[in-house]
Amino acid sequence: MGAGIAGLSAAAALARDGRVTVTVLEGSPRVGGKLLRGEVAGVVTDLGAEAILARRPEGVGLMDSLGLSSQVVHPAVLSSAVWSRGALRSLPAGHVMGVPTRLRALASSGIVSPGAVARAALDLLRPGRSGPPDGDCSVAAAIGSRLGHEVVDRLVEPLLGGVYAGRADELSLTATLPQVAGVAGRGSLLRAMRAISAPRPDTGPVFAGLPGGVGRIAESAADDVVAHGGVVRLDTTVRSLERTTEAWRLVVGSAAAPETVAADAVVIAVPAAPAARLLASVAPGAVAELAAIEYASMAVVTLAFKPSAFEKPLSGSGFLVPAVEGKLIKAVTLSSVKWGWYPDDVVVLRCSIGRRGETSSLQRSDEELIAGALADIGSMIGVNGVPIDAVVTRWGGALPQYAVGHLERIRRIKTAVAGVERLAVCGAAYDGVGIPACVGSGQAAATQVLQGLAGEGE
Ligand SMILES: Cc1cc2nc3c(=O)[nH]c(=O)nc-3n(C[C@H](O)[C@H](O)[C@H](O)COP(=O)(O)OP(=O)(O)OC[C@H]3O[C@@H](n4cnc5c(N)ncnc54)[C@H](O)[C@@H]3O)c2cc1C
Repeated sequence: MGAGIAGLSAAAALARDGRVTVTVLEGSPRVGGKLLRGEVAGVVTDLGAEAILARRPEGVGLMDSLGLSSQVVHPAVLSSAVWSRGALRSLPAGHVMGVPTRLRALASSGIVSPGAVARAALDLLRPGRSGPPDGDCSVAAAIGSRLGHEVVDRLVEPLLGGVYAGRADELSLTATLPQVAGVAGRGSLLRAMRAISAPRPDTGPVFAGLPGGVGRIAESAADDVVAHGGVVRLDTTVRSLERTTEAWRLVVGSAAAPETVAADAVVIAVPAAPAARLLASVAPGAVAELAAIEYASMAVVTLAFKPSAFEKPLSGSGFLVPAVEGKLIKAVTLSSVKWGWYPDDVVVLRCSIGRRGETSSLQRSDEELIAGALADIGSMIGVNGVPIDAVVTRWGGALPQYAVGHLERIRRIKTAVAGVERLAVCGAAYDGVGIPACVGSGQAAATQVLQGLAGEGE
């Protein structure tokens, strides 16, 4: 259940296997979950997720299996910046998710103050441990203790915020920055990061997209399920889940007109809170753990302009805005600069708003969000004209927060679920929020239930 990219990946894998009949039960009126396309100034574009990490195989692999590979595009430009200390500044060369590797690059970026560069330099002089003594700790604790909090606030947190909309003092080091966790605790963090950031042989483009938006992947995956004999039912919320001796019994639909659906196996591909409710009587050991996973809400303001609206031509793929700058927006994607497929006569950009704990910024009307986004970008990139169109997309409970201890929590949830035959869970709550990770978790869930069914048939 759940027709987000994780559920659809599981369903497509199961339908293609051919041994089972697949029914996808989706509570909302559309497929895609956090993948959503819509129109701004007549251009169909992503209003949710918009890029796929191409360095992992699962996302590009799914596009390939859906026959979309010949249409895959890569960013025309990929140069992210940070709005910091009154200017747009390039990220320091060699950084790893915002963690600097060289003091000179950090200083010349201008993102942090000279005092913060001097503070970071102490890292080279101080021996001893950095990061998690045993197990996990927060990103801010591990990196701030070595490089100082300005580096965390102005570099690391904005980059992590782009993925999790979360706070560095809450996010788990081992779950969100495993490459840093792997070298933390070995004296100088700068030296250790330098060793792991050494240039790798060219492994191809970092990101992939599709003309018209990556939301097309979810639409194609749903079509693929149907083409392989499956069914996708929309407006079909699953309300409860029960195990009978022979099969699963799912109650779906409205409370006034409930309907029962029987199934041999179930894949739960919904966010943590509904998953917790559904597992109450089935895998009680997972319930409190799932319920403890918090989510950050956000909004995306997509704006379309005439090219003449900008004081100078836009460059780069976008920029991040640290929370300490006190602005409404947290990131801007210059969509029509980043991706080459937009028409020449329109400039489309997306402003992301909302971080964990910042509920007040989202309690504004759509008009206020648009006005606030315009005021911020006007002061940062110089806008003369008014937008020709604007769309506000609200993403309540959008991004799971991988808090300190997340990996252990997921191990406990998976152990509880593994004790129940012909049941699997997948999605952004578990092993990664990005599209490739969700695709991978959906495909792994499909394998798990197929193995369960095959094992019983032997
Ligand atoms: C604004 C935004 C931008 C993002 N940008 C990117 C990006 O550029 N690149 C990237 O890799 N990742 C990005 N992400 C993250 C990524 O898109 C998500 O983590 C991922 O799509 C989540 O997929 P999912 O299938 O786990 O969950 P979801 O997409 O949340 O899907 C879950 C589905 O389950 C349904 N559901 C819930 N409860 C029930 C129920 N009881 N019964 C039936 N159905 C139910 C929901 O309606 C939903 O359709 C972004 C996320 C957001 C919010």
